[in-house]
Amino acid sequence: MTAVATEKLIAPHGGELVDRTGARPDDLEALETVTLTSREMSDLDMLASGALSPLEGFMGRTDYESVVDDMRLANGLPWALPVCLAVEAAPSGERVALAGPSGRKMAVLEVDDVYQYDRPREAERCFRTTDAAHPGVARLYAQNPLYLSGRVSVFERAEPSFPALARDPAETRAEFAGRGWKRVVGFQTRNPIHRAHEYLTKCALEMVDGLLIHPLVGETKSDDVPAETRVECYDVLVEKYYPSDRVLVSAFPAAMRYAGPREAIWHAICRKNYGCSHFIVGRDHAGVGDYYGTYDAQQIFDEFEPHELDIEPMFFEHAFYCRACGQMATPKTCPHGGEDHMFLSGTKVRELLAAGQLPPIEFSRPEVAEVLVSAYRR
Ligand SMILES: [Zn+2]
Repeated sequence: MTAVATEKLIAPHGGELVDRTGARPDDLEALETVTLTSREMSDLDMLASGALSPLEGFMGRTDYESVVDDMRLANGLPWALPVCLAVEAAPSGERVALAGPSGRKMAVLEVDDVYQYDRPREAERCFRTTDAAHPGVARLYAQNPLYLSGRVSVFERAEPSFPALARDPAETRAEFAGRGWKRVVGFQTRNPIHRAHEYLTKCALEMVDGLLIHPLVGETKSDDVPAETRVECYDVLVEKYYPSDRVLVSAFPAAMRYAGPREAIWHAICRKNYGCSHFIVGRDHAGVGDYYGTYDAQQIFDEFEPHELDIEPMFFEHAFYCRACGQMATPKTCPHGGEDHMFLSGTKVRELLAAGQLPPIEFSRPEVAEVLVSAYRR
């Protein structure tokens, strides 16, 4: 890729885009190996690419404590969730090799510290619950008992699940700059996009230069729609219903934490690193079950001064098709009652799809519904 001036874009979090890729060390075979979980692998790859700038490695104790207590790194910079590596025991050497779940070595970590952490406290502060039925809390409770911190250097990047959609922050930034975009809105999603979310993204796009549809393709709960099917849905939707010169679809390699409000902040900061100046926050962003209030993920942004995050959140209500308005709308813009609104529950939609029936066009674009119906038949 030729170098494109990206200085008109929002600066990365902390000012500089971190690059923690590096050469394979000669003494790799002599190093003790730590095997990462799938969530830790996602974090490692995002450390390598600068998606987690300004982090250069897994968090040390002072950053960790400060993030858990105060949603800030020790230097005061906003940061909402721990990025930590859990280990069984302290390693003996000054450096360790980091391997993926398959055992393949990908990175080296310069050991900075090994420390104990308090699982229920992290759960209560970060997930707002200590209930082990919460998927993020369950994962936390099942982790190894110590955190290992230190700078990483990644010599082999994880195989992207969707090579055609794999773009590092430096690449999305170059793409935005190449298209002449300055103001870019990011849209986080882990579901197929139906009319409601199409409407939100287009409302946002009316006000900025470009839209980054940034589906999360890391690990999710097993009942979320598989990433492969979702990506097919985004492709047909964008091809038929969006202006291609104003939209970029790219994969966001993070794993879901289901931390609701804090994850909304974390998602926004990551998208800032990818070059987004704006970020869509809907109702119950990154929530699960009924652990979070409808607007918690929007209200948490008020805990920071606007200049601290820099990236501008755009808050949205749930959208629907209103027969009386004759268009998509939200409770903010439509005065009519529920009887005029096209509403289908997630359960109802799954029933229709499983029966091979397409949901109404006011709910879902037929091309998207067809992808979902055929995915159900597989
Ligand atoms: Zn209406």
